[in-house]
Amino acid sequence: MQLHFSKILFYILIIAFIFTACENESSNNDNDKMLDDQENIKVRIPKFDGKAAKEFVAKQVSFGTRVTGSEGHQKCKNWLVSQFKSFGAEVVEQDFSATTFNNVKLNATNIIARYNPNIKERIILSAHYDTRPFADKDPDPLRQSDPILGADDAGSGVGVLLEIAKLLQSNPIPMGLDIVLFDAEDYGDSESNNPDSWGLGSQYWSKNPHVKRENVKYGILLDMVGAKDAKFYKEGYSMQVAERLNNKIWSLAAGMKKDNFFINETGGSITDDHYFVIKNFRLPMVDIINMPSENFGFGPHWHTHGDNMDVIDVKTLEAVGQVVTAVIYKESNKEFL
Ligand SMILES: [Zn+2]
Repeated sequence: MQLHFSKILFYILIIAFIFTACENESSNNDNDKMLDDQENIKVRIPKFDGKAAKEFVAKQVSFGTRVTGSEGHQKCKNWLVSQFKSFGAEVVEQDFSATTFNNVKLNATNIIARYNPNIKERIILSAHYDTRPFADKDPDPLRQSDPILGADDAGSGVGVLLEIAKLLQSNPIPMGLDIVLFDAEDYGDSESNNPDSWGLGSQYWSKNPHVKRENVKYGILLDMVGAKDAKFYKEGYSMQVAERLNNKIWSLAAGMKKDNFFINETGGSITDDHYFVIKNFRLPMVDIINMPSENFGFGPHWHTHGDNMDVIDVKTLEAVGQVVTAVIYKESNKEFL
């Protein structure tokens, strides 16, 4: 992902988005009526295990670099599919091909793990599972063309979502939920200001979604959620289309004493998978992403060989995992948004 400065097109899309969102109010009411027929089960919020999430990150890193199309990526993909199946999800592998900014043809796969696929109203949780093919921000110029290990970017988000999948199996909820792991997010061109070189998997999914737009209430994207002392500001695009959801998540985090991680201020606008989901699928989607420095950079390990297990901290994974788990279970209990 990268900071995105060209916003004019996006503002036009936001206006179209608002019209679509208004239309969805009425169909949501229909969904509510359907859900009223179901039993109103309250499920206690389970405890999120940060250590287990860290082990899921370490397992991904053990496959080596996971650039789309590489051996490490293939092995990691197979492992992710089998993990989600073992956690009781119905798994869809959405294969697609895409051409990168430097004309590499990729055969890629978005992984979709579905809970309660028969329930209409759903939320979506996302992360990307590929790693960057270049360490273009590495201080050593001789190693800048080598791929990165990507423990934080984006093993961390996937690790949190695997642990949540495990909780969904042991603490089932009467709500539809899809975990969508996007492929080929991080093959982007950091030299150009063209957002379309990033997020190839989310671009494909958002134009070929596995669900109808009117059945999805909102989405949450996790990206770089594992580094020690991470700072999560409310991301700019998320605030444009999902201000209320952002504010709810951040105030929930404050109530859980996680406001040392979840900073109650708006940060930069990031070209990340949610940008394409908002633009093409018109879903309100929040990006929880580490922007630790005052100018909202992504931290010294970003797109370098320093993005390895040494930067991963259980406390950060646990803070994000516990807040997102609380969102899900509160939403299922109709106590959130
Ligand atoms: Zn990245």
